[in-house]
Amino acid sequence: MVVTTPASDGVSDKAKNLHFSSIVVDTHDDTTQLLLDPKFDLGVRHTTGSIDIPRMREGGMSAIFFSIWMPSKVTGPVAVAKALEQMDAVRRQIDSHPKDLVLATTAADIRQTRKDGKIAALMGVEGGHMINSDLAVLRKFAGLGVRYMTLTHSGNDEWADSSTDKAVHNGLTDFGKNVVREMNRLGVIVDISHVSDKTFYDALEVSTAPVFASHSSCRAICDAPRNMTDQMMKDLAAKNGVIQINYHVGFLSQEFRNAEKADPKINEAISKEVTARCGAEANEGCMLLEGVRITREYVAKGVLPKVDYSKIIEHIDHAVKVAGIDHVGLGSDFDGANMPYGMEDASMLPKITEALLQKGYSEGDVKKILGENTLRVMADVERVSRELQSQK
Ligand SMILES: [Zn+2]
Repeated sequence: MVVTTPASDGVSDKAKNLHFSSIVVDTHDDTTQLLLDPKFDLGVRHTTGSIDIPRMREGGMSAIFFSIWMPSKVTGPVAVAKALEQMDAVRRQIDSHPKDLVLATTAADIRQTRKDGKIAALMGVEGGHMINSDLAVLRKFAGLGVRYMTLTHSGNDEWADSSTDKAVHNGLTDFGKNVVREMNRLGVIVDISHVSDKTFYDALEVSTAPVFASHSSCRAICDAPRNMTDQMMKDLAAKNGVIQINYHVGFLSQEFRNAEKADPKINEAISKEVTARCGAEANEGCMLLEGVRITREYVAKGVLPKVDYSKIIEHIDHAVKVAGIDHVGLGSDFDGANMPYGMEDASMLPKITEALLQKGYSEGDVKKILGENTLRVMADVERVSRELQSQK
């Protein structure tokens, strides 16, 4: 089905045909924070945020991973309870939109959901702190449908070092390695976005299934510690993994990053303004949306540089050159980060297909980036899980 929308203006019929006949997977969306408000309806078109059913349909998104997230500082039983609450919120949205959404847990589910004309909804836990160092909690999450877990968020957890915290574990602890082994057994993808380089290499060594980065970009283009070096991408690819490119301007653009670093007062001012707008009892959903809005105001005033969505294509192309066409995908970070101009929401995804075709990518290669590579990793992880479970 080819849809004509203002968002896909400038997209050729060839690109539209290709895009809407492909399986398009986005492995990281923070929309869950908005779903915690019981009044929020994913079924109607919103003027803020990036994700809702109408815009996913316009953009041809076939599968979305809703991120289960809270800051690293939330730990213990509270973190477990809050994670369960978020999983419940995702599942309730799916239940209330049966014509549009299906809870999916496998690559085959995604293909079937696509055939049925619906959108596959999946869940990933963003931060190992939410299992409270308890494998039984990990198993419970998997039972509720969680299909990846990011080993850390921006702070260390009890058993793994993060890329944006002071290393205290030298990568993964012995327990952390057991977490990875149990994830392999359960068929939960090991996600290495956010983790320190040493944690990445420990996870790569211990995991018997391919691992992925659900939302990371290339450090060679933008020197953020949670982006991947060329060598890390090569080593990820050698184990058949995938780097899902993150659209956040601070991970795409060195110029944007430099501007933020040059004047730390900018981010302080943005945080202050966010708190003022959302109130003292601010929820994460309000803070995410207002943070995006205020950052855009700073760009409009010329305080921060304007980053265009072509930067996403630059990262995809670099990752393909380094890691190979079979090892790159899409992990937007929609509703959790600052999107570049021209990729404000899910309805604009066909522009990625157009840009890749213009760059000379074949139709088969574009399909791999849009979703086929992710489906392959999922199928591999499922196979390893079956093998490990049958060894008992
Ligand atoms: Zn993240």
